[in-house]
Amino acid sequence: MRTYTVRDVVGEGRDTLLVVDIVVHEPGEDGACSGPGNDWARAATIGDRVIVVAPRRGHDFGGVEWLPGAATDLLVVGDETALPAIYGILRDLPADATGTVFAEVPHRDDVLEDVVGPVGVEVVWLPRDGAPRGEELHARVLAHLARTADDHAAATAAVSAVELEAAPEDDLLWETPVYSASGEDVSGTVAADGPYAGLYAWIAGESRIVTGLRRALVKDLGVDRRQVSFMGYWREGVAMKA
Ligand SMILES: Cc1cc2nc3c(=O)[nH]c(=O)nc-3n(C[C@H](O)[C@H](O)[C@H](O)COP(=O)(O)OP(=O)(O)OC[C@H]3O[C@@H](n4cnc5c(N)ncnc54)[C@H](O)[C@@H]3O)c2cc1C
Repeated sequence: MRTYTVRDVVGEGRDTLLVVDIVVHEPGEDGACSGPGNDWARAATIGDRVIVVAPRRGHDFGGVEWLPGAATDLLVVGDETALPAIYGILRDLPADATGTVFAEVPHRDDVLEDVVGPVGVEVVWLPRDGAPRGEELHARVLAHLARTADDHAAATAAVSAVELEAAPEDDLLWETPVYSASGEDVSGTVAADGPYAGLYAWIAGESRIVTGLRRALVKDLGVDRRQVSFMGYWREGVAMKA
């Protein structure tokens, strides 16, 4: 069993389609980098059957964890596995929403024209085109949030210092404004003043890249933990638990 995002539900009745985008990743020569989700998607043909456990339309089930509250400055960050969620977030934003999206994709051909939001939300595509995963993404997010000269200097230095150290536990990072997998206190309210007043950030993708951004935002820049959802969607070199 593997987890994917419901990108969309289109059509009605017997013609209803559940739309899921599965990123296929290259299996290594010994098959070490493949997995059941990848193998299924690579071999899938029309008529194949699959068992799906999915939320019911109209029933709140969580998953995407889009919890902006009254935020006025939205920041959405993700890699290719987060694109279906980002598509849905942007589609459902109110017309007067403002913010920025940083979307990392493997190659410039992977840019998706239909991932667009309201006019006040800029979508910045960051194709790796062979560069290390998360490198430019990390630096661009830090530069976006930089408020002081020191912050700007740290963002520039970050290009060569992306955090790739493994989290101590096996589980993927999963923290939202109202939930902490590590048991941190998330009670109380966020201060209405300060450099990040009005900010809500949603960050999803490879777990170590997300962990690195968490450290930079919360520990280095001082963003309130309750203004961010951090979600590890997968871990490089580690198969998900079934
Ligand atoms: C809430 C949530 C929503 C998600 N939504 C989506 C989605 O809509 N689309 C989507 O494609 N993924 C999505 N994912 C991520 C997906 O569940 C993982 O990528 C999963 O590991 C894929 O399973 P697998 O069987 O291919 O590989 P696994 O058996 O889990 O892992 C085998 C190997 O493949 C590597 N690997 C896994 N995924 C990737 C990848 N994307 N790129 C490179 N190497 C990889 C692993 O590091 C490991 O070495 C989501 C995850 C979560 C938690």
